[in-house]
Amino acid sequence: QAAQFRAERNLPSITRDGVRIQLFINAGLQADMAHLDALGADGVGLFRTEFQFMVSATLPRLEAQQEFYKNVLDVAQGRPVVFRTLDIGGDKAVPFLPREDEENPAMGWRAIRIALERPVLLRYQLRALMAAAAGRTLSIMFPMIADMSEFKAARNIALKELARFERLDIARPAKLEIGTMLEVPSLAWQLDPLLKLVDFVSIGTNDLMQFFFASDRSNPRLTDRYDLLSPPALSFIRMVVKACDRAGVPVTLCGEMGGRPLEAMALIGLGLRRLSISPMTVGPVRRMIRSLNVKQLEDYILDMIDLEDHSLRVKLRDYARDHL
Ligand code: PEP
Ligand code: MG
Repeated sequence: QAAQFRAERNLPSITRDGVRIQLFINAGLQADMAHLDALGADGVGLFRTEFQFMVSATLPRLEAQQEFYKNVLDVAQGRPVVFRTLDIGGDKAVPFLPREDEENPAMGWRAIRIALERPVLLRYQLRALMAAAAGRTLSIMFPMIADMSEFKAARNIALKELARFERLDIARPAKLEIGTMLEVPSLAWQLDPLLKLVDFVSIGTNDLMQFFFASDRSNPRLTDRYDLLSPPALSFIRMVVKACDRAGVPVTLCGEMGGRPLEAMALIGLGLRRLSISPMTVGPVRRMIRSLNVKQLEDYILDMIDLEDHSLRVKLRDYARDHL
């Protein structure tokens, strides 16, 4: 199987009715970058920057961060890489930040909440990213944005940092794209102002769905309790995708959901055209895409999305069996 998927890596991820689906990988280590060529992926849709910080006993110095990001961009050879700024705290502990006992760490002091309170950390990371991307395009996004004001504040920090490069006349990115993760449900009700300000949106279903269903993503007892292939989850995702399409803002889905072929099929049926998935799932998802007829699937899914079913999994599985 693995050898077969390897042989298919240069086949385009285009559906039978000619719809191109872009497949990006999720990465976080330098070693992950080798998958780009090996899989024929379109780029990195989510680069989780926290790993470098989690394995380090002390705060990685500016130079170390810069060198790390530069290597990542070098290996990407011009393919897009979306760096997510630090998503630490919660379940992602780092040795150099005091860890407070929190009753709900996933909903606690983490990610952009830390970054806005300790802006030096974010500023240094942005500085390292901008220096690393000198002369190239730099794409960044922020984790756990719940409120427009947080996105604006984080974006302003990035723009200020860029202005510093200009003022000092230091080599800087040829282009800066600033987007956001959409992984806190409240943000989906601020799309009008948000979509005027972002360059792209990335739907993080791992956190989004844990908060949507109020169901801990890491508790095995709850894993199968709420099916993401259910009308509420799917219509929520569809609402976000349609709003992004209407505004002409590129939207990617970067949660684990997108790496499962049946789920990926449903997501494409909802209108998604860009998935960022873990490297080992690229082969199976690409194969599914190449046997799919999007128009037919779209009609089928839209007919079902208002049903009262707890899960559409069996119906979608039957559809896949009969049509792929
Ligand atoms: C997500 O929440 O869906 C996501 C992609 O980010 P992480 O898994 O790193 O929280
Ligand atoms: Mg997340």
